[in-house]
Amino acid sequence: MALIVHKYGGTSMGSTERIRNVAKRVAKWARAGHQMVVVPSAMSGETNRLLGLAKELAPPKPGDDHNRELDMLASTGEQASSALLAIALQAEGMQAVSYAGWQVQVKTDSAFTKARIESIDDERVRADLDAGKVVVVTGFQGVDEAGNITTLGRGGSDTSAVAIAAAMKAHECLIYTDVDGVYTTDPRVEPDARRLTTVSFEEMLEMASLGSKVLQIRSVEFAGKYQVPLRVLSSFTPWDIDIKEEARSGTLITFEEDENMEQAVVSGIAFNRDEAKISVLGVPDKPGIAYHILGAIADANIEVDVIIQNLSKDGRTDFSFTVHRNDYAKAVDLLRAKVLPTLGAADIVGDTKICKVSIVGIGMRSHVGVASKMFRVLSEEGINIQMISTSEIKTSVVIDEKYMELAVRALHKAFDLDQPAA
Ligand code: ADP
Ligand code: ASP
Ligand code: MG
Repeated sequence: MALIVHKYGGTSMGSTERIRNVAKRVAKWARAGHQMVVVPSAMSGETNRLLGLAKELAPPKPGDDHNRELDMLASTGEQASSALLAIALQAEGMQAVSYAGWQVQVKTDSAFTKARIESIDDERVRADLDAGKVVVVTGFQGVDEAGNITTLGRGGSDTSAVAIAAAMKAHECLIYTDVDGVYTTDPRVEPDARRLTTVSFEEMLEMASLGSKVLQIRSVEFAGKYQVPLRVLSSFTPWDIDIKEEARSGTLITFEEDENMEQAVVSGIAFNRDEAKISVLGVPDKPGIAYHILGAIADANIEVDVIIQNLSKDGRTDFSFTVHRNDYAKAVDLLRAKVLPTLGAADIVGDTKICKVSIVGIGMRSHVGVASKMFRVLSEEGINIQMISTSEIKTSVVIDEKYMELAVRALHKAFDLDQPAA
């Protein structure tokens, strides 16, 4: 008998019929003798619907902050789906109980809309499991020190599930979703993408941070920190497939490199359309410039991603960086008000129609020429590279958004990701 955590995403919980299927699958696992904790997302579209209502009433304006209320609102999606799942489990003849984050308790900091889990009290859940119940815990939400409901950022139910698995020292955390595992790239963009049977924790961390939304990055961080065995698999297989076959399906996130692991140089391609580029033009090229510009941005709590400084000409240079699109207007306003006058720069220009495409692979550590091959492939497609950033196991480029799909597909083919692993 093992303690297992299942997480079901929005599409998997998307209708009463699907919820019934989830209940049947969970019941199968429980009847096989496992202690089951299940973490559902809101039904698909529900979080967007709720946040859309708020936007209708109060279109976002700089300086306005409804974040506490947004969390009160958005958390109801998971509360509804959790109760529905517990009811469906009971209808299957199981003993089941559902809890909201504050009831467990899943304690977080107070950063509304992007709270971080600080601790989880597992006493109540453990007592229910010991009494033979299936326990359903809402994804995506927690409670802060002052008793306010918080949410963990979009896609946060993955993190709830992994954090609960870590706190309860679960045997495994299974993330059920609408694809049957982690692919070499998003199969919606590249139909020839291939499922990976294993992916290293480091690669998964990079893929998630670079935009592959199949797992929220914080869930991967948690899995790494607490060594939670983590698998991504499909909720769309028939619920009554053989449990041993199901337990081996999908993609396993591995923590050690073993000989059986797929040894591709590049394991996957990630992309993201969430960033915008800001360029400060005609900046006097002297010490302290980067600090002057990025210090002001950091003080406003805005995260910066890719940075590039051009060669200087006649003592002046251009300085560009990317921020999240949601922070773009705030960053430009701030630079115009505070930095432009004091720095003596010529102008500030921005571009929101960019995207970042990245190749990821632990094999890049031991192979040279991988980045240059990426640049060659893009140049053969006539795609201009605006910015580059690298780390040991990834190379990212910022390009015009309209070339994103072309770039992903060309790179996928050039790095043989459509071919079965050797
Ligand atoms: P859920 O609602 O189950 O949490 P998400 O929509 O958050 O599901 O994540 C699953 C989606 O992630 C897939 O439908 C797929 O389009 C997308 N995705 C992006 N990159 C990848 C990848 N490398 N492998 C698999 N899926 C990916
Ligand atoms: N329902 C939340 C969202 O749509 C959390 C999740 O699905 O993981 O972002
Ligand atoms: Mg998700």
